[in-house]
Amino acid sequence: MLIPIVKQIAIPYLLKIGAGKIGRVGKYLADKEMKKIAIIMGKSSLKLIEPKFSASLTENGVEVLSQTFTESIELSDIAHAAFALPYDTDAIVGIGGGKALDAAKYTAFLLQKPYICAPTILSNDGFCSPTSSLLVQKKRKSIKSKMPFGIVIDLDIIGASPANYIYSGVGDMVSKITALYDWKEAFNRGHEHVNDFASMISYNSLDLLFLKHSYDIYAMEFQRSLATSLTMSGIAMEVAGSSRPASGSEHLISHALDQISAEPKLHGFQVAIAAYLCAALQGNPNRDLLDEILDKTGFWELAAKDPINKTEFIEALKIAPNIKAGFYTILSEPDSFDRAIDLIENNGILRRMIK
Ligand SMILES: [Zn+2]
Repeated sequence: MLIPIVKQIAIPYLLKIGAGKIGRVGKYLADKEMKKIAIIMGKSSLKLIEPKFSASLTENGVEVLSQTFTESIELSDIAHAAFALPYDTDAIVGIGGGKALDAAKYTAFLLQKPYICAPTILSNDGFCSPTSSLLVQKKRKSIKSKMPFGIVIDLDIIGASPANYIYSGVGDMVSKITALYDWKEAFNRGHEHVNDFASMISYNSLDLLFLKHSYDIYAMEFQRSLATSLTMSGIAMEVAGSSRPASGSEHLISHALDQISAEPKLHGFQVAIAAYLCAALQGNPNRDLLDEILDKTGFWELAAKDPINKTEFIEALKIAPNIKAGFYTILSEPDSFDRAIDLIENNGILRRMIK
């Protein structure tokens, strides 16, 4: 039975994307009367944001009640640390890559405080999603969390980040092509509601990135669009009330790879390669677009230098359909596994990406 849709949506109220924005965080917080904050950050982020960040807090009279570096993303550790924070904290500020932001987001959710995030890399759409990826008794789980109240993305910091992360962000964006197709097919088979608005946001986030620009991933304008597109993808999930607009068969394969690989690749690399395969299985009309983006941005060239292990990929294909119970994707079709193996053996691109 389908679950009726009765919900409210939360979208970021404060959204700042541009060069030098980390030096404005103090002003943004003070403008919203957030004068006492707790900061949760990645250790390597400190040198990226200082001294501009601290100066902006001091100038605007924002007091740091607590500043911690994320050591663990085990849920129980985060919960203990969260409830030890001073009671009068106005907001939680998360700074860094994946782990620090997941921990900070969940802390804000537990304490029911506004959450402001400042991602230092753009490797996936997790910074703006309504879930946190945490460990529960050492197993990675996606846990209900909260949308950020504010997002501050400093393009100077993003521009100085390793290109691998930008490519991973591009890979996470192209995976919407297969995710949206799976969602529609799940609807056609009576497994899911489709939210047209969420679907439109997700499609538009792709258009925004790839119709407007050249494919130069190093250009600041490209990175600005990538930041906006990943943000919109997160908002599409919130509007839909599920991860459907951003995550389908290709994400199932990536989750399976995370579980079994000796050395999993960056999220966006795994989902993009899986998306190329799943688009072929789906007969997806946008498969050529997906290929063109990954070709022209130089993604294929880079990914080919560090291919995914073929034995692990095939193992992941076996597990993937059962990772989320009742979640229909192209991988649920009985002939998909054999067709996928045939493509891995015979498709020119897949033979370079999976070895
Ligand atoms: Zn993703």
